[in-house]
Amino acid sequence: MSTNAEIYARRQNAVPRGIGHATPISAARALNSEVWDVEGRRYVDFAGGIAVLNTGHCHPKVVAAVREQMERFTHTCFQVLLYEPYVELAERINALAPIKGPAKTGFFTTGAEATENAIKIARAATGRSGVIAFTGGFHGRTIMAMSMTGKVVPYKKGLGPAQPETWHVPFPSPQNDVSVEESLKYLQFLFKADIDPARVAAIIIEPVQGEGGFHQAPADLMRGLRKVCDDHGILLVADEVQTGYGRTGKMFAMEHYDVHADLICVAKSLAGGLPLSGVIGRAEVMDAAEAGGLGGTYAGNPLACAAALAVLDVFEEEKLLERANAIGARLRARLESFRTRNDLLPIAAVRGPGAMVAFDIVQDRAGEVPDAESTKRVTRAAYENGLVLLSCGVNANTIRILVPLTAPEAIVDEGLDLLERALAV
Ligand code: PMP
Repeated sequence: MSTNAEIYARRQNAVPRGIGHATPISAARALNSEVWDVEGRRYVDFAGGIAVLNTGHCHPKVVAAVREQMERFTHTCFQVLLYEPYVELAERINALAPIKGPAKTGFFTTGAEATENAIKIARAATGRSGVIAFTGGFHGRTIMAMSMTGKVVPYKKGLGPAQPETWHVPFPSPQNDVSVEESLKYLQFLFKADIDPARVAAIIIEPVQGEGGFHQAPADLMRGLRKVCDDHGILLVADEVQTGYGRTGKMFAMEHYDVHADLICVAKSLAGGLPLSGVIGRAEVMDAAEAGGLGGTYAGNPLACAAALAVLDVFEEEKLLERANAIGARLRARLESFRTRNDLLPIAAVRGPGAMVAFDIVQDRAGEVPDAESTKRVTRAAYENGLVLLSCGVNANTIRILVPLTAPEAIVDEGLDLLERALAV
């Protein structure tokens, strides 16, 4: 088999630069929270394919469900011949999701497709076009999703123009030095300066910003947005592509709030590694688009739906929500102990609900000045030591942990030991 370096060199010739990499490693096989590369080296996986593997790599139940479905049929296109796994999955998710009143769910393939379709549905339901998102938010890389994403470099630079009638409001977080009051005030400025609220279809928000640095939307913000939406007939869209499916210790992060979204986008851990996304919403809103206005050739692929049904079973059988909270507590306790250590790089702001845990690397122990260079060195030292670790954040100085919720405690601890080594000064 080729080496990591050989595959990486071939990739340089065959694959565009715009598709970036967190590591130069090529995977050969993976199981639960461990990965082996093409040279036989083992890694603890704290990335989970960017929040896709809450049920771990190759969960035996997911593998069995996919294998069984594969032997029946792999594709019909749901718009040509229906299949029960799609319908059953929609039924089960409708019963679980924090949506007020009867819910319906449509399936797609990627997270970006989910956010784009949520906006199409909101436009059809309201007859309006405007969309408001937040700075630092991430909603995908296709044109509308990119327009809603609140970060220019690297997601938008040279790739415009953005979709018209898409605006951003500052996301409130201590790191941004923006309060909830200021954020909501800015929204009112927008209504005065740029768009009549009666022309806004949707406000889209991640309950916990993922790529933006694991900043949780404060409860007051979510309540404030719900009120603005109710006052003006705007739909509230929760982008739960990264938070969804148990990562935050609840199945949906919107369950942490006392208000509901009208539409919820899910993807990533929905199908345990197979490409599947969904938009869940109030039934009357979901039914607004004309027949044929939504969908896609591969949308809601039968293998992915079979996998997603198995994922729901695994969540119940293995009590993964409890596991998320236990793993999160373990991670936070250890990271807090790193904070006081002079032999490690200065870290700050250990945060995040459930197992959606992150911290910042800063220039000195007392301050909050981001240290993006050291953060890059840490993720590199991590994979060189055998830990797959991701950074994120608007200042590129956040380390995030997305270890599978099925990871044994010993592997979580091993990963933390490797992280500790990577943080050594
Ligand atoms: N929304 C959020 C919150 C995400 O984290 C992501 C992916 N990181 C997306 C949308 C886009 O998902 P995809 O890459 O599957 O298009």
